[in-house]
Amino acid sequence: MVWPSNTPPQRDGDAEAGINVSDNFQPFIQRNDVFSRAFWDDHIRNKRTDGFFNSYRMEAAPRRGAGFTQKDFALRNAAWLMSDVISNRAAEQGRREGFQAPIANDTPVAPDQVAVDDPAKMAAEIKRIAAFFGADLCAVTDLDERWLYKTRVDTRDMSEAENALPDGLAHVIVLGHEMDAELVATYPSALAGAATGREYSHEASVVMQLSAYIRNLGYEAVASMNDTGLVIPFALKAGLGEYARNQMVITPGFGPRLRFSKIFTNLPLDHDLPRKLGVADFCTICTKCADACPAKALPYGSPTEGGGVSAIQGVKKWTSDAEKCFGFWAKMSSDCAICMRVCPFNRNFSRIKNRLWLRLALSRFRKLALWLDRKRGGRVKPTDWWQYPT
Ligand code: SF4
Ligand code: SF4
Repeated sequence: MVWPSNTPPQRDGDAEAGINVSDNFQPFIQRNDVFSRAFWDDHIRNKRTDGFFNSYRMEAAPRRGAGFTQKDFALRNAAWLMSDVISNRAAEQGRREGFQAPIANDTPVAPDQVAVDDPAKMAAEIKRIAAFFGADLCAVTDLDERWLYKTRVDTRDMSEAENALPDGLAHVIVLGHEMDAELVATYPSALAGAATGREYSHEASVVMQLSAYIRNLGYEAVASMNDTGLVIPFALKAGLGEYARNQMVITPGFGPRLRFSKIFTNLPLDHDLPRKLGVADFCTICTKCADACPAKALPYGSPTEGGGVSAIQGVKKWTSDAEKCFGFWAKMSSDCAICMRVCPFNRNFSRIKNRLWLRLALSRFRKLALWLDRKRGGRVKPTDWWQYPT
């Protein structure tokens, strides 16, 4: 896709979604994300980063104490299994599906197309079916090509490859997948990584099944996880939540404790609208994530433009130091989400007291809400997780 003119930089709905784009905007080159750079950039790659990736095979997993024992790595790596099956199946062609290439279709588009007279009704139906397949959130927005990667990565040599979608896919279905609260509470640990792995495996299954349904209706659908484009701006534009200092979308239903996936489609669907919740206002008085980050990778102060090689250029936002962050992951041989664990919005919102707290946090009484949160967010010992429910 040829990158269109970025004039004017702001588009309809950006302000409501909390998206702030300047004339410096450049679409992101996926080869520059820190996980890809860990394979080609000597500034990032070292024995530890190689060890990080190798640890996802049991023969290379380190075993060094609570939260990082053979059982912890065994659970984490098993949780990733279904995602790994998908991402490895076309590795020989340089397509790491779900990460550095969209998930290839297993279902042809049906020759007969179901008529869609009411896109609002169809959107409601898609949300119901997304829930049936196991998605915890689902909303629809337009395909804003600013958030597609300029190029993807050919994983055979980590070179840039064409990032093409079929023409006419005007809609993006954004799906949210809740991470397990009890495992997230044990970050940092290899055990906690099982919460991430399980949701990647869930994501793969949900986007593939929902895409197959749409294709069976006679419409195009491309299933996507981390590949093809940045999911966060699509989630914001679809009204699923608000961007926060910890680099996550904070949602009213699950706080920051979920992952997102997406489907590009030409199925006629009404779009959801972005909404300002008050999360960013809360982040202006809170620094719990930045304070807790062991790598000091999260920013203080107000959103800014810029950031390093691995940051998208020309978007004013809170941006982490991805090199510092991934350096900590590599040191641990597992992913980290301490900044998710300590966030005051990381709560079980099925409980009334947490819903009341949310109302307070999103109101002008946010300082009181932050004060009420002062003793929360501590780490649960991984050994305690293994004891449960004795
Ligand atoms: S994931 Fe961990 S290292 Fe990275 S920003 Fe969050 S707390 Fe810091
Ligand atoms: S910990 Fe505080 S500053 Fe960080 S994302 Fe959560 S609410 Fe925002």
